[in-house]
Amino acid sequence: MTYHSATGPIGAEGRYWDALLEGRLELPRCTGCGHWHWPAVWRCSACGGWDHEWVEQPLTGTVFTYTRTHHPFGGTEAFAKPFATLVVTLDAVPVRLVGVLEGDEAGLKIGAPVAGTIARTAFGDAEIPALRWRLA
Ligand SMILES: [Zn+2]
Repeated sequence: MTYHSATGPIGAEGRYWDALLEGRLELPRCTGCGHWHWPAVWRCSACGGWDHEWVEQPLTGTVFTYTRTHHPFGGTEAFAKPFATLVVTLDAVPVRLVGVLEGDEAGLKIGAPVAGTIARTAFGDAEIPALRWRLA
């Protein structure tokens, strides 16, 4: 089974990218046992089921960890240095997602609450949707 997005055939996570392009965060949950999967999978590792439903999620969470980038490398051209990249544990489901911090870093620490938005970022010759986090 191959998922086709607006940009062509992609893997199990295709629905994630299409939803982001439309301004929503959606994540897959196994319809057999309710297990949340991220990264997306074709087959549930908990029950072996093949069916998943994609459920819209609010873009709120807490900082699980973060790192600060001081030197440029490929793909970071659009960001003023230094910038912080966060791994955020979502409030609603047991999933962690990565995104760059926007705005003031005052108060940035593990456990800090954040709210997200969906932006676009350069990736090679394309622009792809990307999560951005702001301290709440
Ligand atoms: Zn399952």
